[in-house]
Amino acid sequence: MKTESKFKELGLIAPILKAIAEEGYETPSPIQAQAIPPLLAGKDMFGCAQTGTGKTAAFAMPILQKLYLQGGPAPGKRKLKALILAPTRELALQIAESFQAYGRHTGLKTTAIFGGVSQNRQVEALRQGIDILVATPGRLNDLIGQKLCDLHNISFLVLDEADRMLDMGFINDVKKVLTKLPDERQTLLFSATIPKEISTLVDSILHDYVTIAVTPVSSTVDLIDQTLYLVDKANKGRLLVDLIHEKNIASALVFSRTKHGADKIQRLLEKAGINGRAIHGNKSQNARQDALRSFKAGKIQVLVATDIAARGIDIDDLPYVFNFDLPAPAETYVHRIGRTGRSGASGIAISFCDYNELSLLKDIEKLIKAPLPRVEEHPYPMQDFEVVPLRQNARQSRSVATTEATPRRANHTRGRRH
Ligand code: AMP
Repeated sequence: MKTESKFKELGLIAPILKAIAEEGYETPSPIQAQAIPPLLAGKDMFGCAQTGTGKTAAFAMPILQKLYLQGGPAPGKRKLKALILAPTRELALQIAESFQAYGRHTGLKTTAIFGGVSQNRQVEALRQGIDILVATPGRLNDLIGQKLCDLHNISFLVLDEADRMLDMGFINDVKKVLTKLPDERQTLLFSATIPKEISTLVDSILHDYVTIAVTPVSSTVDLIDQTLYLVDKANKGRLLVDLIHEKNIASALVFSRTKHGADKIQRLLEKAGINGRAIHGNKSQNARQDALRSFKAGKIQVLVATDIAARGIDIDDLPYVFNFDLPAPAETYVHRIGRTGRSGASGIAISFCDYNELSLLKDIEKLIKAPLPRVEEHPYPMQDFEVVPLRQNARQSRSVATTEATPRRANHTRGRRH
């Protein structure tokens, strides 16, 4: 089979190839093509890559294959042989789901453990025996401290989103876990950025390693239908509501630069009768998880998220992404719109830009090396050309929002009509 052969050329074997075919993957992503052969050959790896590049499969498939070839699950209680550390529970769950999907014909067992919930079910899963453990560092250390988790047989370690684990203050927890692991192991570290602490960590824990780097920028962006609306800040809410109605949008992710802004968007959606939910750092993990689950199940029409809250979220079949505010730095634009158009499907990204965001727009267009196509005709053309210092933006927009109510037809700025 054609599909099979492309992955087969990387050295993958039948039980994994079967799962790949069932997932519907046709071609290895660039990171998979680069990472799978050296990982199968037993190399350590430093991967500079974002979520959305297919990196989970890039490390999960070789680990599953090597464990399977080592004889798969041994008779008696399974011993923990692979450990994946991830910064958040959302990411831990997604990674575990990927291992379960790609490993469904290997007989290997994967579990995720994370904080914020009772440990009982996680402890029970460990007690019964698993092969692959995906964990957040804090909860893992808790369980190690209680002697409920034995890491003596670990032969694969992955640190995923290592820079984020650092940002979130997990570095000591990670280092503590490292002291519990056998020296003889294959170690992989993935990080989207390389601050000094990460390069130090790379040098101290990786041996004879290969480095791979993939930027999702051009390939991801090319697949996505992108448009831009120049619109006053005070009219962005109305434009969003109009577009959701007009385009009959059943499922969209809306990005807001701030937590306050995300809540505000949720309220204006509610007022317009649109089922929306905001997720950001002030919401509990349970609330975030619940919103994400409901969104994936189609029970919530619009998920509003800050960049931090959305990191690591993996949603298949997401047709629309809105940039309610333009992000800074410009790279964030690419990460945001990369949420749609996954797996080769075409997605639609719609961005709003007010007068004060024009410099951000310039940065984005420079990064993606193309102008964002403008929608010239729309009911709320930009009319407010007042420069507002960034700090005051939020306050200013609130007072303007109360005074502006009626949609206008495009007029002097463009689309001149007679
Ligand atoms: P990740 O970067 O690991 O978060 O993966 C991003 C998304 O790409 C996930 O939804 C995967 O299911 C999907 N994916 C991974 N590898 C492939 C592939 N070779 N072809 C198509 N989709 C893929």
